Amino acid sequence: MDITITKAASLKPKPDDHHLGFGTHFTDHMFNMDYNPDLGWHQARIEAYTPIAMDPATMVLHYGQGVFEGLKAYHTASGGIQLFRPRENMKRLNKSCRLLCIPTFDEAFMMEALKALLQVECDWVPTAPETSLYIRPTILAMDPYLGVRASHTYRLFVILSPVGAYYAEGFNPIKIMVTKEHVRAVRGGVGEAKTLGNYAASLLAGDKAQRAGYTQVLWLDGVEQKYIEEVGSMNIFFMIGDELITPALNGSILPGITRDSVLALGKQWGLKVSERDITIDEVIAAHASGALQEIFGSGTAAVISPVGELRFEENVLEIGGGRVGPMAQKFFDAITAIQYGQAEDPLGWIVQV
Ligand SMILES: *Cc1c(COP(=O)(O)O)cnc(C)c1O
Repeated sequence: MDITITKAASLKPKPDDHHLGFGTHFTDHMFNMDYNPDLGWHQARIEAYTPIAMDPATMVLHYGQGVFEGLKAYHTASGGIQLFRPRENMKRLNKSCRLLCIPTFDEAFMMEALKALLQVECDWVPTAPETSLYIRPTILAMDPYLGVRASHTYRLFVILSPVGAYYAEGFNPIKIMVTKEHVRAVRGGVGEAKTLGNYAASLLAGDKAQRAGYTQVLWLDGVEQKYIEEVGSMNIFFMIGDELITPALNGSILPGITRDSVLALGKQWGLKVSERDITIDEVIAAHASGALQEIFGSGTAAVISPVGELRFEENVLEIGGGRVGPMAQKFFDAITAIQYGQAEDPLGWIVQV
């Protein structure tokens, strides 16, 4: 399939690289492609960034049949632009499609489309330290129909947003709150898909956590509310004694690519890394005994997020005296150095644009 390129009639002024925030600025162009049962995915095109006109009955607006991805393009010191493990994002997007009854797409073609869009928008990749161009591929159900079934038509688009640090805290410890009142996902549900409803379902608990002074919610399993799952935009790691632990993928946890990268690097460094069940009680006991060294989150947006305080009911666990732990720092440094092309890429994670 060919990709037609139509340049925008006028270009936007670029924002200041030092005050980007997250997800507020969008570039001049976007990628679009449509699906219908006769033509399959068709009309791949790069064109001006524009609103999408929708019938008020459009299915995604009513029933949330939509999936998305999040990855980043990085500016390197030699002036190049590169992506971190983008094929994994395309693979995961198709996996989310399967869970949401959305037709899959050709991953190799989407890699080419992504590169073509980034070549058009190369001037939008910011150059200030710790900035990048966030990439948001999205697929939406487009039938104008109010019955509940899978849509027959879809729109796939990719938009780009120059970003700085995800958390206002920057690379500093955040405070997270464990909730028993709400659950994010359940066994047999769609917790392992990056699908719209999962985020809507997390808002109320997130809002309560914010009011209590916490940045994020740490979710427990939806059945026994005992086992730790993830943070909802990040996966979670615990350094207990000499063991680096993250919950095993069980169907209700999003399989993070940063999570996988931490596991791969940890193994390479000879750390004892475990993907296993871990209860909130084990974490509290490890803190009481002094064995809990560090907690940190992993995700594309913030890369590594050290956790300085964890609250569960009446337990308030202070971790690392409010400072960034050595493991969190080591993973952050190692992963960002690969992403920005400052270090070797021993595991073949980088794709040049
Ligand atoms: C995207 C996401 C993550 C992190 O995944 P990465 O591939 O590392 O960015 C973790 N949990 C949820 C629910 C997510 O949506």
